[in-house]
Amino acid sequence: MLAVGKELLIGRTMNSNAFWIGRRLAKMGSMIKEITTVDDDLDEIGAALLGVTSRAPDFLVVVGGLGPTPDDMTLKGVARALRLRLAPSEEALRLIRAHYATRGMAGAAMTPPRKKMGALPAGSEPLENGVGTAPGVRLVAGRTVIFCLPGVPAEMRWIFRRSVEPEIRAKVGVIYRRNVTMRLLGVPESALAPALAAELKRHPGAYIKSHPRGAVGGVSRILIDIAVAGAERGEVDREGKAIMLELKAAVASLGGTVGAVESTN
Ligand code: ATP
Repeated sequence: MLAVGKELLIGRTMNSNAFWIGRRLAKMGSMIKEITTVDDDLDEIGAALLGVTSRAPDFLVVVGGLGPTPDDMTLKGVARALRLRLAPSEEALRLIRAHYATRGMAGAAMTPPRKKMGALPAGSEPLENGVGTAPGVRLVAGRTVIFCLPGVPAEMRWIFRRSVEPEIRAKVGVIYRRNVTMRLLGVPESALAPALAAELKRHPGAYIKSHPRGAVGGVSRILIDIAVAGAERGEVDREGKAIMLELKAAVASLGGTVGAVESTN
């Protein structure tokens, strides 16, 4: 994910779009590999984009800077980095006009700022924005499908659900997931560390992460998140259960107890 916007760098806006996309991808059995945030600056956008595409991920989601104002320069930066022309897209202009029409502004003048939102890198496809004006954009660079989405969270989410998620889902395929959270009492994290390392070695595909939650009355508390994913439901269930049992045994041997186990899917 490439987030564009000074507001994200100066502590004015929290990158909640990254949080939302990350959670959504994890639920469908995929994952964000990297989140980069850059200023509203053509060189910064271009350099970050080329850095990502040189690693050829399946998808790159660029968020922010699609609006009509001069500081919205994401598409210009993307086009420049990929050596593409930025040209008016009839389909994008149609979507923009249709948006104004549904807001009781049929026939709204296509002023330069409005036209700007309809100028896309050559070869890209505009994506309908059911909430705001600027269409999203889909284009392909080498092995990577790039989606550019508006920064406004409601707009980003609408386009993501409608145009981005189906394509990622099709690539990921059907994945079963098992998520378990264990609450441990009475084992300090440093004592637990070797057991966790051994467990990760035994189950290299699993996600096992401990979160220290402080100590109450001298008794340390730790949460452990476990996630297993795969194409075979039976195998995923078996591996999830095995990890839980092995960790329970390890905790007991360290003198601790497992307070509660929660399972979510
Ligand atoms: P529009 O096309 O609707 O004008 P835009 O693509 O131009 O959107 P920005 O101008 O970058 O979007 O940001 C619009 C709003 O969305 C700002 O209030 C900004 O703080 C917020 N925003 C931008 N990026 C993010 C993000 N990653 N997470 C949360 N909020 C964001």
